Amino acid sequence: MTFVGGVKQQMYGGTLPGVYVFKQLHFHWGPNNTVGGSEHTIDGKRAPLEMHVVYVNEKYGTVSEAAKHPGGIAVLGILFKNAEASSHPLVGFIAGFGPELQKFDAPELVVKKPLAIQSILPHALNNYYTYKGSLTTPGCQEGVIWTVFEEHFKVSNRELEFFRNVEGKHGLLTSNFRPVQKTNGRTVSYVSPAQTAAQTSKGSPSGKSAGIFFIAFTGSLIALFAIVK
Ligand SMILES: [Zn+2]
Repeated sequence: MTFVGGVKQQMYGGTLPGVYVFKQLHFHWGPNNTVGGSEHTIDGKRAPLEMHVVYVNEKYGTVSEAAKHPGGIAVLGILFKNAEASSHPLVGFIAGFGPELQKFDAPELVVKKPLAIQSILPHALNNYYTYKGSLTTPGCQEGVIWTVFEEHFKVSNRELEFFRNVEGKHGLLTSNFRPVQKTNGRTVSYVSPAQTAAQTSKGSPSGKSAGIFFIAFTGSLIALFAIVK
């Protein structure tokens, strides 16, 4: 996939059927490291934290409008593994805040921070799982194109504690992930450079590589720290 900066943060390529524009990003976590907090599991293992970067097809203006159309929304899933050190600049930035960011009434909090998209995505953009699924938040509309990267970032216990101490309207939000859903016959594809090379040598039907392409930029984007229940 290719990520382009500017006023509109765009993404295209890979298995995406069009050009997508960045809308927001948010996190899912759980009460402790045993239970986990990610919404995706790889080999049955739930990660303690997952970041979702939400894009909508440029044909539609809003997430709610895009959600009415198959392929209208594309979400990138980034998983974290618990480690002593942390490796994600945005998580570090957020966890650097005190209670002012942990107590609020609004359903989401806007954090304005100049952000280079490449700094918050894994290095190995060519290794990912992809499938057509649904939104994981209420509404759970179908037709969302999911891309979940294989590479994990590291998140420290201190950072995880920050998320677990976020207080929403209805008290402490120790967990905000949805249980794993049945695949319902959906195909989950694994994309990797080796597989892409194999496809290319066979001649892929579209004539396009399935790999992810990335253009670095340093833009200013608004990160939404959404609290979803
Ligand atoms: Zn989410």
